[in-house]
Amino acid sequence: MRVVMIGTGYVGLVSGACFADFGHAVTCVDKDAAKIDALRRGVMPIYEPGLEGLVAKNTKADRLSFTTEPAEVIGDADVVFLAVGTPSRRGDGHADLTYVYAASEEVAKLLSGYTVIVTKSTVPVGTGDEVEAIVRRVAPGADFDVASNPEFLREGAAIADFKRPDRVVVGTESERATEALRELYRPLYLNETPLIATSRRTAELTKYAANAFLAAKITFINEVADLCEKVGADVQEVARGIGLDNRIGPKFLNAGPGYGGSCFPKDTLALSRTAQQYGAPVTIVDAVILANERRKARMADVVVEAAGGKVSGKTIAVLGLTFKPNTDDMRDAPSLDIVPALQKAGATIRAYDPAGQQEAQKHLSDVAYSDSPYACAEGADIAVIVTEWDELRALDLDRLAGLLADRVLVDLRNIYTDEDASAAGLAYRALGKPVRQEPVVRLVAGNTAS
Ligand code: NAD
Repeated sequence: MRVVMIGTGYVGLVSGACFADFGHAVTCVDKDAAKIDALRRGVMPIYEPGLEGLVAKNTKADRLSFTTEPAEVIGDADVVFLAVGTPSRRGDGHADLTYVYAASEEVAKLLSGYTVIVTKSTVPVGTGDEVEAIVRRVAPGADFDVASNPEFLREGAAIADFKRPDRVVVGTESERATEALRELYRPLYLNETPLIATSRRTAELTKYAANAFLAAKITFINEVADLCEKVGADVQEVARGIGLDNRIGPKFLNAGPGYGGSCFPKDTLALSRTAQQYGAPVTIVDAVILANERRKARMADVVVEAAGGKVSGKTIAVLGLTFKPNTDDMRDAPSLDIVPALQKAGATIRAYDPAGQQEAQKHLSDVAYSDSPYACAEGADIAVIVTEWDELRALDLDRLAGLLADRVLVDLRNIYTDEDASAAGLAYRALGKPVRQEPVVRLVAGNTAS
């Protein structure tokens, strides 16, 4: 089939490359000329494992191409995906649909022959109706359907998620559109991937319900972690104890600094606004949003406490900046709350991230970046792990301890144990673990590391 992606970001580029790999003829369109130019030269605009090779393979096979000009490709397309951004609207938290509606108008003008226009962007219930109205107004004679096909891929594992999804959700108001999308996803039938065919509104809401549920799961375990610290319990053991229950499941039960990223914060907020608008408030989601904001704000206090009560005049090595490993995405990353709060408390920040430093520079100021975790720790007083990159999971703790003047490791992802850290002579603070009774300052007082 001939497929066009409008929007060549994290979702549009990965989806486009994967559809091409399924054998379809795909063109990815973006109005960002620098991005398209880079892609034509084989340079990826984002960090996503496996993407460069997939793009190269399918470009070479003439199944994948890139353009800034939708007019070159829309007329011939069977399916046009809208994969543009839907950020939070400033001021009220509703999803900002400006890009979706603008793209719909552009596409409408160029339609020729039967075309399925599909929102892959995460959009509030009713957006498909509005897209349909726009296209009808701009192109009254056009032969088209509007469908919703929300995307559930995770950055960092996006290709595997797209090619082996748990399910594909397809929301349409016409059998013809459903059949077109079934055809598009046919290669997944080999893996027996369930294709859930629903109404358009149901598909739109399914995406928000999924993200809100996952955000709630994370927030739940984060609050249990706080309670663990107070009562002397271990959140990792609690998580295992509940996660092995099939009704609960083990995923999304890692205590951490609060959820971030390009989806959960804006999608929970948008769902809450939609629910209010329709008079059916989702109070659980409202509580999740509030608890997560408080948690992100509180993480700097955890670091200050671990440093012995103040960080003024201290140098802190921040290890990991992106909202999760294997991506360069810094949108709403917890580090964007933690770093400025520590700076405000008087700390000097050095940072290391395997892929996010370039993006981080756009959001953070007065940070000295390093080439390795050890270079980052050299001359610092304490280290804080913010993102659980594999590279940071296997640190030489003896070496790290030797580089840190105060020998304090704050682990906001619980990737080490107190035993490992103590053996290296580090005072260790994780989340949701019994907090050592001995104050950190006393633990580090005897150390003479330079
Ligand atoms: P992104 O910001 O990375 O990419 C959006 C792209 O669209 C940009 O490159 C922008 O230049 C382009 N664009 C905007 N208007 C355009 C137009 N009229 N014509 C051509 N290009 C245009 O966004 P993203 O992270 O890929 O997210 C896209 C959508 O997918 C959002 O609704 C998001 O919620 C949803 N989603 C994202 C993820 C994720 O992990 N990032 C996962 C699932 C769903």
